[in-house]
Amino acid sequence: MEKRSAQKNQRRRRARERRMIAAALPVIALAVLTAALSSLWGGIHLREDAAPIPGGSGPALAVFRSDPAEYTEDQDPQPPAQDTDWNLTLVNKWNPLPEDYEVSLVEVPGGEKVDERIYDPLMEMLEDAKEGNQGQLPLVVSGYRTQETQQQLYDGKIAEYRAQGYSEAEAAEQAEQWVAVPGHSEHQLGFAVDINGATYDLYLWLQENSYKYGFIFRYPGNKTDITGTAEEVWHYRYVGVEAAAEMYEQGLCLEEYLGCA
Ligand SMILES: [Zn+2]
Repeated sequence: MEKRSAQKNQRRRRARERRMIAAALPVIALAVLTAALSSLWGGIHLREDAAPIPGGSGPALAVFRSDPAEYTEDQDPQPPAQDTDWNLTLVNKWNPLPEDYEVSLVEVPGGEKVDERIYDPLMEMLEDAKEGNQGQLPLVVSGYRTQETQQQLYDGKIAEYRAQGYSEAEAAEQAEQWVAVPGHSEHQLGFAVDINGATYDLYLWLQENSYKYGFIFRYPGNKTDITGTAEEVWHYRYVGVEAAAEMYEQGLCLEEYLGCA
C-alpha cells in the first residue's frame, strides 16, 4: 500500500513538472523572439542614424556603398587642379607657356582678341563695370599676344631703360618688372586682359567685383615677391568663378592658390 502510494506521488510530481515546462515554453519562445526583433530593430536604427553622414564609417557603409552618387568623391579622387583645369594654367617668370600651346581666339570690342572661353564672362564683367566707369564700357587695350608681339614689347621696354642710361643687364631687370620675358606672359595664354578705364575708379570697382565673373586682380602690390611682377591695376586674368572667389575671400594670388608660392 505504501509502495503504490509512493508511485502515485511520483507520477503526480512528473505530471506537475511537465505542466510547468509546457507553461514556460511560450514565455521562452516569446523572450527569444523579442531578443531577435530587438536586435534587428537596433540594427535598423543604427543605419538610419548613420544615414546623414555622407561617406561616414561604421555600419551605414554597407548600405551606402551601393549608391555611387554618395561615393564618387571617395572613389575617384580629383588629380591636382593645375593638371586638368585650363583656367588655372600658371604662366609667370618661372613657368613658361605650355609647349605647343594652341588657342581659339575671338575678337572683343576695340579689336583685341582673347580665348573664346573667356569671352562671355569678360563681356559680362565689362558691361557691369560701366557703373564704375562713368557709364562707359571699359576698353580692352591688350588681350592675346603672340610670341612676336611679346618679343617686340620686351625689346621696346629694354630700349627705354637703355636710353635712360641703364646697362644691358640693368635694363633687362627693370623691363622684366613690367613686361614678361617672351614665352612667360599670361597674355600669350589668351586669358589675360589689360583694361583701360575712364578714371581710376574703374580699378577699384574691378578689385571688388571681378571675382564674381571669374577674373582676378593678378598683380597686387603686396604680392610682387610671389608673382614676380610689379603692381598692375589694369591687368586681369581669368581663372573661373570658383577659384576667383576663393582667392578673393582668402586674399591669395594665383601662385599661393596653386601652392607654388
Ligand atoms: Zn597685362
